[in-house]
Amino acid sequence: DSVIHWFKRDLRLFDNRGLRMASEKAKTKGVPLICMFIVSPQDYQAHFTSPARVDFELRTLKIMKDDLAKLDIPLHIETIEKRKDIPHHLMSLFSNWGAKHVYCNIEYEVDELRREEKMIRKCLDMGIAFNPVHDDVVVAPGELSTGAGKQYAVYSPWFRSWIAHVHANPNLLEASEGPEQNPSDIRKRFKDIFDMKIPEAPSNKSLTSEEKKRFEHLWPAGEHEAMDRLNKFLKQKIGKYKDARNLPGSNATATVSVHHSAGTLAARTSVRAARDADSTKKLDGGNSGIASWISEVAWRDFYKHVLAHWPYVCMFKPFKYEYTNIKWEYNDSHFEAWCAGQTGFPIVDAAMRQLNHTGYMHNRCRMIVASFLAKDLLLDWRMGEKYFMEHLIDGDFASNNGGWGFSASTGVDPQPYFRIFNPLLQSEKFDSDGEYIRKWVPELKSVEGKAIHDPYSRGAAKIAEKNGYPKPIVEHKGCRERALARYKQGIGRE
Ligand code: FAD
Repeated sequence: DSVIHWFKRDLRLFDNRGLRMASEKAKTKGVPLICMFIVSPQDYQAHFTSPARVDFELRTLKIMKDDLAKLDIPLHIETIEKRKDIPHHLMSLFSNWGAKHVYCNIEYEVDELRREEKMIRKCLDMGIAFNPVHDDVVVAPGELSTGAGKQYAVYSPWFRSWIAHVHANPNLLEASEGPEQNPSDIRKRFKDIFDMKIPEAPSNKSLTSEEKKRFEHLWPAGEHEAMDRLNKFLKQKIGKYKDARNLPGSNATATVSVHHSAGTLAARTSVRAARDADSTKKLDGGNSGIASWISEVAWRDFYKHVLAHWPYVCMFKPFKYEYTNIKWEYNDSHFEAWCAGQTGFPIVDAAMRQLNHTGYMHNRCRMIVASFLAKDLLLDWRMGEKYFMEHLIDGDFASNNGGWGFSASTGVDPQPYFRIFNPLLQSEKFDSDGEYIRKWVPELKSVEGKAIHDPYSRGAAKIAEKNGYPKPIVEHKGCRERALARYKQGIGRE
C-alpha cells in the first residue's frame, strides 16, 4: 500500500494542506508517502505558459526532490506528451504503487476541474480515494456571498466579507507542518524513483542558455527563497508599501508573485506573516502598509473566486457579455510595436521591455500597457492577455485575466469604459523623475527633465532620433475618442 501526493501548482513542502493530509494518512496507515509531478507539454501549450515559468518550475522541482529525499520521500517526475493520456497513465502508476489514497490541491480552472472529476471517477472504480483539497486560496471559492446569496462581482464589499470571514475562522491562517519522514526501507523499494533525473523542459518551452542564466539570477527558485523574499519584504519594505507601491522605479513591492503562482509560497503563509507583523494581529489593523499589502494579496483570492463562479471567463469570453461585440482593430504592426516596446510612448516601452527581459512587470505598468493596448490601440485585449502569459514568469490565469478585464473594462469590477488612462499623465505621476524609463529605455538615458515622458514634443527629439527611439505610433487624444465611440457602439449605447 501507499499514499500519493500529486504536486501541481503547490511546489512546496511547508504549509501545504494536501501534502500534510497525505503525510498524516500515510502515517496512520503505516504506509509510505510517494510524491509525483507531471510535466505536460500540451498543457503548457494550451495555457500559453512562458518558457521562463517552465524553467522556474523545473528548478523548483530539483530543490523539492532533494528536500523530500532527506525525509525518504520519493518524488516521481515524468513528462507525458499527450494530455489526454494523463488520467490513464496515472491510474497505472497508482496501481503499480498500490495506492489507496491520493491527495492533491485543487486548481480552479475549467480544464483542471474537468481532469479532477475524471480522476475521482476512475479512482472510485479502482477503490482508491481521490482527495482534492482547498489550499491555493485563503478562503475557498463559494464561502463568501452577498446578502442576496450571490457571488460578489465587486471587490470592496467582497474584501470586507473576506476580512470578516478570516477573522471569524482563524484556522484558515493556521500553518501546516511539512511531511513526516517515511519508513526507512522505502529507499530500496522505490530506488528507481529516488534515482530519477529532473526532466528537461519540453522543446516548445525551452530557454537559450543566456536566458536560463538570466532567469536563474533574477528569480532563484524554491520555497526557501520565497520565505527569504517574504521576510525581507516584511522587515524592510512593508511600512512604506502603501505610499510607494504604485511607483515602478521604487522597488517597493514584495516581488513574490511568481512564488504565489507556482505555489512555492502559499498566499495563506503571506497573509499570516503580514498579520503577525502587525501589533494588533488584525488583517486591517493599525499599520497601513501591512493592511494595504494584505488587501493586494486578497485580490488574488478574489479573482480565483470569480473564475470558479463564472468559468466561462476561461473560454476567451469577456466577463461582461455586452462587451463581446466591440469591433477591435487587428493592426499587426501596432501589436508588434507594443510587444517589442517600440510604441514611442516611453512608459509603455519601458514596461514592455521590463517584461521581455525579466518575465515580470510592475503592477502600475501592467495597467498602463493593458489600457494602452485595449483603448489607445483598440486591439483585442485577449491578444495582450495571451502575450502576458507567454512572457510572465508569474503568469496566473485568474489574476492575469482579471487584470486585463479590469483594464479593458470588459471584466469583473472593471474600470468604467469611459475612463481611459492617458499614458503621458500616468508617466508623469508615477515615474515623475523618469528613473524607470531611463532604466529600460537606454535610448533616452541622456534626456533630462520632463522631456523623458514625451521626447518628441518636449524638445528632446534630436536625442531620441539620433538614438533610434521611435516616434509615437498613435496620437492619444484621437485614440481616446475612437475608443469611446467604439466601446459605446459595441455595447449598444450609441
Ligand atoms: P505586491 O504588490 O507585493 O503584492 C503581493 C501579492 O499580492 C502579489 O505577489 C500577488 O500574488 C498579489 N497581487 C497583488 N496585486 C494583485 C492584483 N492586482 N491581482 C491579483 N493578485 C495581486 N499577477 C500575477 O500573479 N500573475 C499574473 O499573470 C498577473 N497578470 C496581471 C495582468 C494585468 C493586466 C494586471 C493589471 C495585473 C496582473 N497581475 C498578475 C497582478 C499584479 O500586477 C502582480 O501580482 C504584481 O505586480 C506582482 O508583484 P509583487 O509580487 O511585487 O506584488
